[in-house]
This record gives sequence, C-alpha cells and structure tokens, in this order.
Amino acid sequence: MAVLPTDAAPRAAAALPELQELLRLIDQGGSMLQARELASVATSAGALPVIGVTLGNPDPSVPALGFIGGVHGLERIGAQVVLAYLGSLVRRLRWDLSLHQQLESLRLVFLPVVNPGGVQAGTRANPRGVDLMRNAPQDADRGVPFLIGGHRLTRQLPFFRGPGGAPMEAESEALCRFVREELLGRPVAVSIDFHSGFGLRDRIWFPYARTRRPMRHLAEIHALCEVLDQCLSPHPYVMEPQSRHYLTHGDLWDHLYDEALSLDRGIFLPMTLEMGSWLWVKKNPRQLLSRHGMFNPLIEHRQQRVLRRHMAWMDFMTRATQSAFRWLPGPDTRIDHGEQALIRWYRRTVR
Ligand SMILES: [Zn+2]
Repeated sequence: MAVLPTDAAPRAAAALPELQELLRLIDQGGSMLQARELASVATSAGALPVIGVTLGNPDPSVPALGFIGGVHGLERIGAQVVLAYLGSLVRRLRWDLSLHQQLESLRLVFLPVVNPGGVQAGTRANPRGVDLMRNAPQDADRGVPFLIGGHRLTRQLPFFRGPGGAPMEAESEALCRFVREELLGRPVAVSIDFHSGFGLRDRIWFPYARTRRPMRHLAEIHALCEVLDQCLSPHPYVMEPQSRHYLTHGDLWDHLYDEALSLDRGIFLPMTLEMGSWLWVKKNPRQLLSRHGMFNPLIEHRQQRVLRRHMAWMDFMTRATQSAFRWLPGPDTRIDHGEQALIRWYRRTVR
C-alpha cells in the first residue's frame, strides 16, 4: 500500500534510473510493500523525492534491518546493490513461503537513494554542496584529517559539513527520521549503509567515526562477526571500527547510534559497507580516466558480479537480525566477547 504523493512517480521517473527502478519495485510489490516520500529535494532539473520502503511485520517488538544507499551521489553502485536486493525480495515474495514466514517476525526497511540530487548530478555532495555523511552536528576528537574528515570552509570543496549551527540538510533529516521511526527503540535493529571507496577489500565499518574509543555494543558486534565467520566463510569482508582508518566530524551513524544509546532501550548496530573499488579499477585500469569509474564498476558484467557479490551477505544479515537473540552474548559471554574485541580491534592487552 504505497502512500506516495501522486506526482512523485512521474517526477522521479523522468530523472533517474535508480528512482525509476525503485518505483517499479514498489509497484510490483503491491500490498506487500509500503512506500512513503520522506523529503523532496530541489535540483536544477526540478524536485526529486527521497523514498523509504518498508515490508514485514511493523510490530515494534520484532527485530528490524535497514538497507541504505546513495548517500554519496557519486557512488551509484551502493544504491544499485540495495535495489538489487529489494528486487530479489519482491520477486521471491510471489512464491517463497520461507520469506513470508521470515517477514512475520522481521521488519525490513529500505532507503536506496538518500541523495537523489547527488546521484543525478554525479556528485558526492547533495545539490547544496553538503557531504551528508559529515552533516550531523557532532565534532570528532582531535586528529581529524584535513578536508576529508569534514570542514566548514566552503561548499566549493568536497567534504563540506554545512554551515555551523545550521539545521541538517533535508536528506540527512529524512534519513534520521526514517531510522528513528523504523529502527530505534526496537529490542534489536541493524542498519547497513552501502558505499564504495578506495581500497581492495570490502570493509564493514561500525562506530565510531568520531573517536577511537570503543562503542558500547562492541561485544555484540564481536559476536556478530563470529557468526559471520562461522557461517559465511570464506567471505570477502573485513569488519572493523571506522576510526581504525580515519576520524570524521558529523557522521550520521555516530549521531543515530548516540541517539539510540540515549533512549536506553534495545540494541542498535549501525554498519557501513565500503565496497573496495580498487578491485574494479585494477581489472579495468581505463576506469581511472572516468570520475564515475573511481567509484563504480563500469563494465556491465563486472557490475552484475558486484550486485551478486553481496547478496549472500545481505541474506545472512536478514537471518542474523531476525534470530539475533540466539547469538547476542548473554551475561555469561558478554565480558569475554568484549575483551576479545578490544584485543582484535583496539590493540589492547586485557589483563
Ligand atoms: Zn561514500
């Protein structure tokens, strides 16, 4: 039961293949999906909608998993991976009893194109020149790298946080509201935000981006990492805190994680997948000549391979989220997981 305003579809369809695909899937999903316009973003070519989709049991007592993409407009492959997974679910809904059973005790939420104006223009930032993943109000600890960690100098430079004291951008606000409404406060919720960056490995990052101090749910992350290794090996992923690479100001997931902590209700585990785009460049060095090629596989068969590559993990994550209380550490194992995590990710020697 879609609740999109009547003019959203033609506006979006005229603009972007990713939004066209999303609207097609919403249509195909029929009464199994709910869709809503979370924001409308002004671009030079007219307004574009930010659309959220939900399926499964809306009861706030069941676990929930969110798939987010297209925060950085240049990294279109992130939006495409999220859409590919949503598409596979929509097609399976026609026949797959096990999926219907799964959705009786799981909520799935999708926000595939957070920054439609950036995707349309092929820019990392939104149409107002703001890097949404630097746009939350919090500052990082000392040691933030110049520019890349976020700055307030000018919107002409990448990684601009937005003016000091200004409200968050419409797209950031839409994402936060959607996460707040659909994920926070549940007994357990997980989110995965799909990006593509430099490097050869696919990295799963967890908070924090603003500090090298560990997050409160490090033991839970370690337990998840353990079941991932046990059940999906060999897999291509490296799990680690983002702060292991660099600190940033204004990370939206830090902001939402801290908000979840302040609610003091349930467990929220936000993760970011950074797909290693050097893999694609290495296999096709001509990509270096294209700005899009730095962040997206340009050859059709390689793009298909990337879309397929993450399906097994996304499916694993739906099962892991639904059954979280079977692997989340209890009072007897939590300290042990926490200590192993400190040794693994924070180079601490425990006792
Ligand atoms: Zn990104």
